[in-house]
Amino acid sequence: MQYDAVILGLGGIGSSALAESAARGLRLLGVDRFDPPHAMGSSHGGSRVIRLAYFEHEGYVPLLREAYEAFDRLSRDSGVCLMRRVGLLQGGLAGNEIARGALASARVHGLRVDGLTGREASKRFQAFDLPDSWELVYEHDAGFVRPEETIRVQLSRARAAGAEIRTNTEVVDFDDDGRKVRVRFADGSAVEAGALVIAGGAWAPRMLERFPSLRGFHLKATRQIILWIGYADSAQSLSTLSTSAMPVWLFEDGEGGAPYGIPAFAEMDLPQGVKVGVHQHGTDEVDPLLLNRTVPERVAQDIYARVARRVKAVRGAEVVATAACMYTESTDGHFVVDALDPEAPNTIIATACNGHAFKFVPVLGRVLAEAIQDRGSLKSGLAKFLRRPARD
Ligand SMILES: Cc1cc2nc3c(=O)[nH]c(=O)nc-3n(C[C@H](O)[C@H](O)[C@H](O)COP(=O)(O)OP(=O)(O)OC[C@H]3O[C@@H](n4cnc5c(N)ncnc54)[C@H](O)[C@@H]3O)c2cc1C
Repeated sequence: MQYDAVILGLGGIGSSALAESAARGLRLLGVDRFDPPHAMGSSHGGSRVIRLAYFEHEGYVPLLREAYEAFDRLSRDSGVCLMRRVGLLQGGLAGNEIARGALASARVHGLRVDGLTGREASKRFQAFDLPDSWELVYEHDAGFVRPEETIRVQLSRARAAGAEIRTNTEVVDFDDDGRKVRVRFADGSAVEAGALVIAGGAWAPRMLERFPSLRGFHLKATRQIILWIGYADSAQSLSTLSTSAMPVWLFEDGEGGAPYGIPAFAEMDLPQGVKVGVHQHGTDEVDPLLLNRTVPERVAQDIYARVARRVKAVRGAEVVATAACMYTESTDGHFVVDALDPEAPNTIIATACNGHAFKFVPVLGRVLAEAIQDRGSLKSGLAKFLRRPARD
């Protein structure tokens, strides 16, 4: 056998799995069809929200504590600052799920949060203009992490620990015979490994559609749009759109999905303006290779207008850049991390990141590294939880 494992995809999750497995002394090959970090998948745009008071389910909080420790450790060891705790204001219409879920997580795990009305929040953070009836939660320890820098750091850790990396190399097929996995590349060559980890992001649904075990999850890639809103005068941009007036925010405004924003931050190469998007599931399914990366002016202006109603700091500013990105979605919004199929026990998948996985990449990397060494670890403990957390 040439390798203990092949890691397919070196984006957020795969680069972390490669680094964590290499640190355990395994013989590894990491492969990516592009040259990561890149802007073709799900891990670009400069920043990703990280938060502890998880509104989706309080069961994620122990994983998030581990992720915070890991981002701090990676930053310390690499000398690259990968995470900033700038706070997060989240919530919206009375009775909204986001504030309710965040408060539930905070209560169970003793997290530092403040409950605020719209008026209180607008007074505390001058960037906002929120109705008084809104119910919000401010989380002190939330903030953002840096996807591209995280991938760079993970790949350099992996290389330093002896992992082999092939970029611009596409995996076209694999065959798991129960003893080993044979992985075939677009140039016709192949390698054999004890395990294959599929961390193919938005490409995974197509790659995995022939496996009956995944049909119930209805995996799909969807198109997501990001805008940057800034002022022509960059000094004004940074004073009004930066973290002093504006923490990270996520609002349930009753218009479908939840608009969010991450402030400008010059020290971390995020100077061009506040980055905004709308966190939502069930948008149009796309083929990652055919993704339309152009954002129509009308779509950008609609998002801008929606944001400007609540975020007064962006009024009068302009959309200065746009990008398209992809979520990989499953039916229940939770990650799918497991052996692929009883027929393919050495093929491990980490997919369905549903637009909220970047903050977990160090944890997913650790879980996948353990799974390469011991497939049994996937059936117990956190990996099982990652697959399908119990719902109340
Ligand atoms: C707009 C947007 C906003 C988001 N906001 C947040 C947030 O605020 N907080 C948060 O935690 N998460 C957020 N997410 C989610 C998070 O970014 C993703 O869950 C995460 O980046 C997914 O990482 P990945 O490794 O699965 O995918 P990717 O990083 O896309 O990596 C997949 C890799 O697989 C490679 N690949 C695919 N097929 C093949 C093949 N056949 N052969 C070789 N290589 C292949 C690709 O080239 C790619 O590099 C957001 C996502 C988007 C799109």
